[in-house]
Amino acid sequence: MTDPRTQVASADLNDAERAIDLAWQDGHASRYPLKLLREECPCAGCRTDREEIKRNPFRVIGPDARPPSFSLADVEPVGTYALRFVWTDGHGSGIYTFDFLRELCPCEACRSARVTDETPYVHGIFIPSG
Ligand SMILES: [Zn+2]
Ligand SMILES: [Zn+2]
Repeated sequence: MTDPRTQVASADLNDAERAIDLAWQDGHASRYPLKLLREECPCAGCRTDREEIKRNPFRVIGPDARPPSFSLADVEPVGTYALRFVWTDGHGSGIYTFDFLRELCPCEACRSARVTDETPYVHGIFIPSG
């Protein structure tokens, strides 16, 4: 059984908006700014970098470090479960699974659904009624 909510029906690079438009099989449409996708790159190298920045926000970036490209060179399907984005600076090791992309959807409806999900943990106090 595949969940239509985590099956991408189509992916289109929207040059004018500098974004990727994804259509999902359940009819939902997502628009991801390229910058967001790059910043959330799930490859091991970028994950390590992000954790490093969290631990040490003032670390000195080496002279070889170049700012990442937020332009896409290519989008490739990976099997039937993920997309691979290749950036114009040559970086392309991030495999963005459909589950991950759906979770990342920045639209208003998905954002507020995620906030609702987290509410019990944010407040953490259960007050029994009566
Ligand atoms: Zn990466
Ligand atoms: Zn959404």
